[in-house]
Amino acid sequence: MTPVHDRTAWLKGGEAVCVQPPMKVERTWRLVLLGPPGVGKGTQADLLHHALGACQLSTGDVFRAARGQPAAAGSAMAEAQSQMERGELVRDETVLTLVAERTRCLHCGGGFMLDGFPRTRAQAVALDQLMVSHGIGLDAVVNYELPEDEVVSRISGRRICSSCKSVFHVATHPPEAEGTCDHCGGLLMQRADDRPDAVRVRLEAYHEATEPLAEYYRAEGLLVTVNAHGHPDEVFAQTLNLLARRVLKA
Ligand code: AMP
Repeated sequence: MTPVHDRTAWLKGGEAVCVQPPMKVERTWRLVLLGPPGVGKGTQADLLHHALGACQLSTGDVFRAARGQPAAAGSAMAEAQSQMERGELVRDETVLTLVAERTRCLHCGGGFMLDGFPRTRAQAVALDQLMVSHGIGLDAVVNYELPEDEVVSRISGRRICSSCKSVFHVATHPPEAEGTCDHCGGLLMQRADDRPDAVRVRLEAYHEATEPLAEYYRAEGLLVTVNAHGHPDEVFAQTLNLLARRVLKA
C-alpha cells in the first residue's frame, strides 16, 4: 500500500503548509467518511486519495499529532488527549475549534474526505453551516457498515507505523518483518485507544452519537452505504462504483 500523503496543513494547522499538496484534479470530491472505529476508513481514505486526489482530513489524526506537544494543564487539548486515551468523544466545542482553524483545507485543490468528523449531530449541523458559509457543498457521505464482531477483531489486530502512519493488521495485512513497517522501516505500535477497555467506550460512543448521522445524511440525500466486509480493494471498488453512479444520476 502506498504511504500516506502529505497533510501537514491539516495536522499542524496555523501557518503550516503542505510540502506536496495534492494536484488540482478535474473533479473535486468533497466527502465525509462515516462508520464505526476500525471499519477501515483510514485504509479507504488512502486508496481514495490516490484515485480521486481528495485529501484525508482526520480529526483523530490531529489529536494524535498533538500528543507529546506541550499542552497547558486544564487546556482543551490536554482534556482532549485524556478523553481520547479513554476512548471517549472529545467535546464538540474543542473539535469545532480545531476544524475552524483548518478551514482552508476545505478549499484544497484536490478536494477532501473528512474522516472521524462529524461524530455528533451538533458537529454535523456545524459542518453544514461551515460549508454554506464557504460556498461549498458535500458530494456524498460514505457510510461503511460492518458487523460488530468483525469491527472488534479488526481493531484489536490493528498496528500503525509510528513514523509514516501506514496501517497493518497482525492477521489480515501483516508486515513482512514483524513489528516493522514495510514502507519506511518504522516501529509498528498498537494505538492506546485500540486496547479492549477503550474500544468498548468508543463503540458505545459510536452507537449513541455517530450512528444516527446516517439518517441525518440520508435525509439530505447524501448517503452512500458501503458493505465494508471483504478485502480493502473490494470495498474500495464498491465505493468508487457507488460514487460514480451518483455522478451519473446528478
Ligand atoms: P479516530 O482516529 O477517528 O478513531 O479518533 C480517535 C479519537 O479522537 C476518538 O476516539 C475521540 O476521542 C477523538 N475524536 C476524533 N474525532 C472526533 C470528533 N469528531 N468528535 C469527538 N471526538 C473525536
